[in-house]
Amino acid sequence: MTIIQNPLPYFNQRIDKISQKPIKIDMIVVHCSLYTAHEMIDIFKGQELSAHYIIEANGDIIQLVDEKNRAWHAGIGSWRSINDINAHSIGIELVHPTLGHLSPYPEIQLNSFRKLTKQIINKYRIQPHHIFAHSDMAPTRRYDPGRFFPWKNLAKDGIGSWPADTNIIPDDIKHLSVKKLLEEIGYPTDNEKAALYAFLRHFMPEEIPDREVSDKDQIDFLWHYEENLPKVLEKLPMPSESIINRLQQVARTYKKKH
Ligand SMILES: [Zn+2]
Repeated sequence: MTIIQNPLPYFNQRIDKISQKPIKIDMIVVHCSLYTAHEMIDIFKGQELSAHYIIEANGDIIQLVDEKNRAWHAGIGSWRSINDINAHSIGIELVHPTLGHLSPYPEIQLNSFRKLTKQIINKYRIQPHHIFAHSDMAPTRRYDPGRFFPWKNLAKDGIGSWPADTNIIPDDIKHLSVKKLLEEIGYPTDNEKAALYAFLRHFMPEEIPDREVSDKDQIDFLWHYEENLPKVLEKLPMPSESIINRLQQVARTYKKKH
């Protein structure tokens, strides 16, 4: 695997702000972006942001920050009660012309993603439930890597978790509210509907309402995600029985892994 180096100076050390102790790498955050690596590097320079890796549509991998350093990609949010996601994670950006919402990711790009991610998983022994979307940790702000990111297939290759389809739900899960189920999985639930929406995008992409897939202004909608989201969430129906069942299946699997 060839990795092109293009170092950026936007990073700091992986240190706990309160205890000042070093933080170990134990998460991977998946992002996507409209821009090519070259364009993204310019944007990162303008905004003083970074990620560890960018993967181009043709499969080229560009490294911007050394894995040992804390890159600036995740922003405000949390996953499984961890707030400083940047300190814990490796951030990987995938270039995608429709932000992962209207067309699949090219296989050549996914192959690079698989190789790179498996290497990171093995090196740091990252647990499947610690590999997640930017939209999972920041559901009110972010939409990436989109409904076409193939979580189900990647889990077959040992990347991330795809809980089994089952009706056998233990009692300690069965009686939890939707909010509690989302929290058990890892979602921040200050905005419960936004968290549910992020859950659907990750674990039931076929349930994402038409509003998001058919609109001609799709990219514009995503571009102004934060301001458009409340209008969409207003129309989000109450979770159906199948959605609640899927929430229970995922919560059941993720709960075991505390
Ligand atoms: Zn992102």
